[in-house]
Amino acid sequence: MKPKRSLGQNFLIDPNLQRKITASLGDPSEQALVEIGPGKGALTQHLIGLSDRLVLIELDDELVEDLRASYGGRAGVEIVHRDVLTVDFGALFPDHTPFRVVGNIPYNITAPIIFKLLERPRPSEILLMVQKEVAERLVAHPGTSEYGALTVGVRTVASCKKLFAVPRTAFRPVPKVDSVVIRIVPDDPPPLSLSEEAGLRRLTRAAFQWRRKQLQKTLRDHPDLALDRASVEGIAASTGWDLTRRPETFAPDELVRISKLLA
Ligand code: SAM
Repeated sequence: MKPKRSLGQNFLIDPNLQRKITASLGDPSEQALVEIGPGKGALTQHLIGLSDRLVLIELDDELVEDLRASYGGRAGVEIVHRDVLTVDFGALFPDHTPFRVVGNIPYNITAPIIFKLLERPRPSEILLMVQKEVAERLVAHPGTSEYGALTVGVRTVASCKKLFAVPRTAFRPVPKVDSVVIRIVPDDPPPLSLSEEAGLRRLTRAAFQWRRKQLQKTLRDHPDLALDRASVEGIAASTGWDLTRRPETFAPDELVRISKLLA
């Protein structure tokens, strides 16, 4: 079959790297496993038998047919034919069953997939192949150009680590970008309530849309925030922070504190 660029199909052909990725999962026998975008089974073949329950989520019609032919009859294997962004993980895992997620995912929807996985219920571990630049954004420090809404959104509710690089030559077709395997471990229990997370997302989206402006200006003038002058002064007084700083200089926990004051 011809790989579909629209579905981000770059298949991992290096068996050592396939094994290295699946061996990086925390003890898979203890929890259910979900693979996003199993494709032709590069990782799947090493996941079979590791857990009592393996859920494969694939969108491509042809690949789903092949997966059904290869793995459909296996005990504990479920094939979900749909867009991962529309999967209801709560329905897949009622009763708070713990689960881990692994995937060499389509790069065009990396951030939406990560944010989707950080909805509730959250996996205990997320092991993903991502574009190198996305990995840099996830582990970025405040004040750098990589630091932004993705960094804050993930690191306020989870820890994130770059594990190892994967060369372009390990894929077919060979992609135009470099790749890195990352591990995201959501904090348990979740440190923020759902409404706190929504408020933080509103603040960070506005702040990083206007990343060159002083934070106090964004708080006042951005249509999604629109604070009056007294409220902005109140935030400055109660935190003791200089709000003429640019948003990118505020650490994740500082943005959390401001978003709580906004609430
Ligand atoms: N895991 C395989 C491998 O490592 O060789 C395939 C990886 S390929 C980078 C991404 C896979 O995700 C493809 O099989 C593609 O069809 C699938 N995919 C693309 N968009 C998807 C979506 N929205 N939901 C589920 N799967 C998707």
